[in-house]
Amino acid sequence: MKLMILGCPGAGKGTQAQFISRDYHIPQISTGEMLRQAVTQGSELGQKANVIMQAGKLVPDDLIIDLVKVRISEKDCKNGFILDGFPRTLPQAEALIDAAIALDVVLEISLEDEAIVHRMSGRLVHAASGRVYHSEFNPPKVPMKDDVTGEALIQRDDDKEETVRKRIDVYHAQTKPLINFYKHFPSNARVAAPKFCQVSGLGTVETVAARIHEHLVQKNILA
Ligand code: AMP
Repeated sequence: MKLMILGCPGAGKGTQAQFISRDYHIPQISTGEMLRQAVTQGSELGQKANVIMQAGKLVPDDLIIDLVKVRISEKDCKNGFILDGFPRTLPQAEALIDAAIALDVVLEISLEDEAIVHRMSGRLVHAASGRVYHSEFNPPKVPMKDDVTGEALIQRDDDKEETVRKRIDVYHAQTKPLINFYKHFPSNARVAAPKFCQVSGLGTVETVAARIHEHLVQKNILA
């Protein structure tokens, strides 16, 4: 299964991708996470990406496209993968088609802007692993500690309200057009059209996970 999860930052893509990855044993490819790792490592890519990410903007398409192509060609992606946070622009979606990478399903998790702002303010991450929690909706077993390692959780700079609002604007301008792109997939494309489904991102992580499972089963994507 080659799945792409689409939605505004904070809609729950990363958390739901984590669940699908665990249950169906396919890797989650999170471009945001790959970039954050590059920033931590201080690589050339990380240095370029850092300022852009802090401003809530998107990293240039060419940088991100190459990163994803290399990642998808790795062995663990042989039986499928979950794209989380990519593609995020029309040129990125077109680059996947040009590389003859066919997605089976595009899943949109939809959520109102204000719900997103509320949600992001409670988001916590374990920096070393990228595990995501929420103080209200998906709390760690021990407050502010990672469930697996017991290490401290942090709030990411780009989850702060001002940056969140900027990221929402960027989503509306650059990423939302992908919904129509996938709904009306070009019939002359090199690859077949993916199935498109939309679920509401409202509710607890378990509710949304159950909703996603139901949709994917209905579409005969998951057993
Ligand atoms: P995320 O964790 O997916 O919300 O990504 C965090 C940040 O990484 C975004 O705000 C962008 O600056 C950058 N980023 C992640 N994925 C992409 C992408 N596909 N294209 C451009 N920038 C990206």
